[in-house]
Amino acid sequence: MFNIIFGSALLKWLERLADSDEQSNQTTLPYQAPPEIAQSYNPNQIDLSCYDIAPPKEIVEYFYPRLQRQAMGCQFEIFLAGIGRDQMIFAGEEALEEITRLDAQLSHYRDESDITRLNLHACEQWVRLEPQLYHLIKDCLRISSETEGAFDITAGPLVKIWGFYRGEGRIPTIDEICNTLAKVGFYRIMTDDEDQLIYFATEGMEISLGAVGKGYALDRAATILKMYGAENAVIHGGQSSIYAMGAPPDKMAWELIIKDPRDHETPIEVVYLKDEALSTSGNYEQYFEMNGKRYSHIIDPLTGQPTQGMISVSVIAPTGAESDALSTAFFVLGRERTEEICHTRPDLRVIMLEEDGSDSILVSRFGFNN
Ligand code: ADP
Ligand code: MG
Repeated sequence: MFNIIFGSALLKWLERLADSDEQSNQTTLPYQAPPEIAQSYNPNQIDLSCYDIAPPKEIVEYFYPRLQRQAMGCQFEIFLAGIGRDQMIFAGEEALEEITRLDAQLSHYRDESDITRLNLHACEQWVRLEPQLYHLIKDCLRISSETEGAFDITAGPLVKIWGFYRGEGRIPTIDEICNTLAKVGFYRIMTDDEDQLIYFATEGMEISLGAVGKGYALDRAATILKMYGAENAVIHGGQSSIYAMGAPPDKMAWELIIKDPRDHETPIEVVYLKDEALSTSGNYEQYFEMNGKRYSHIIDPLTGQPTQGMISVSVIAPTGAESDALSTAFFVLGRERTEEICHTRPDLRVIMLEEDGSDSILVSRFGFNN
């Protein structure tokens, strides 16, 4: 996860949000917000720092509620902006409920989740999935084939042998890698669109949605917010994925400043998002070092080796699921192949930071001239 420091602009904005919350508490409100929402927050304890969000202009009749919840191993937050405070808070709560529900459905760590059920039985029989989950898996398979397998939801066993699930990095033997590669490959997942069934063609396979789940949860949360009438919001999941819905009251889009993940300060790029998502995969999130070499938690599913040389990849895409999945895919694919894919996808913007062998870094931008 990003370890983030607030920029002064954002701090000011958050102070104003706190003020506007206080003001609104002085009016009589029929709605009683539950404690997790009603608590006043301390801006110094908020993390959001590989990105700064530019503060929206203060407009007296607007409210800016902020809601948060722990899910999928990270903190989700929703920053809303609009005039109907109670309605926005209600919408935000419903969106958080949906994220909690998705955590229970998608986690391969939970005994009762749909993904655990799938992993237990899909080698023996076709397993029926809830339609939206089925379509998420179909989307993942499409992204896998569009990225030549660089993004692959069957890569979990590789992540495991490199010790990342247990949080203790280790270097597996060549035999271990070869044996594990035999159980990895998105093309081994069989699908039946008519009845939304999934079957695994190879024994020992498993699916994990760690590289796409948070982005997908943001999409679903945004849908719920819209359904309940909230129009302008920024939602993030552990800051590695952000969805910007609508725009702040006085602006055309949400303005985000992407900062250097190594110092959390140096601005790298200012981006404008409206109904778009931004996800970042980085080699500083989970890694271990051995013999002077850094091994990160993103594994190339074709070689079974952790990707080398990449610092971070940020992808702006129309949906959270796609930006999340593609940030992982481009991290594996590298600069040249990513650039080629971006030529065919004018709806994407990518910022790639690579080590260049010295203290400086190589920054590449694709899709920004459209
Ligand atoms: P974050 O957790 O910050 O959103 P990513 O979206 O980059 O980070 O996802 C990283 C996770 O994805 C890893 O922890 C691992 O479980 C899984 N993973 C690693 N390599 C791949 C890959 N090539 N394709 C799909 N998932 C992967
Ligand atoms: Mg990802």
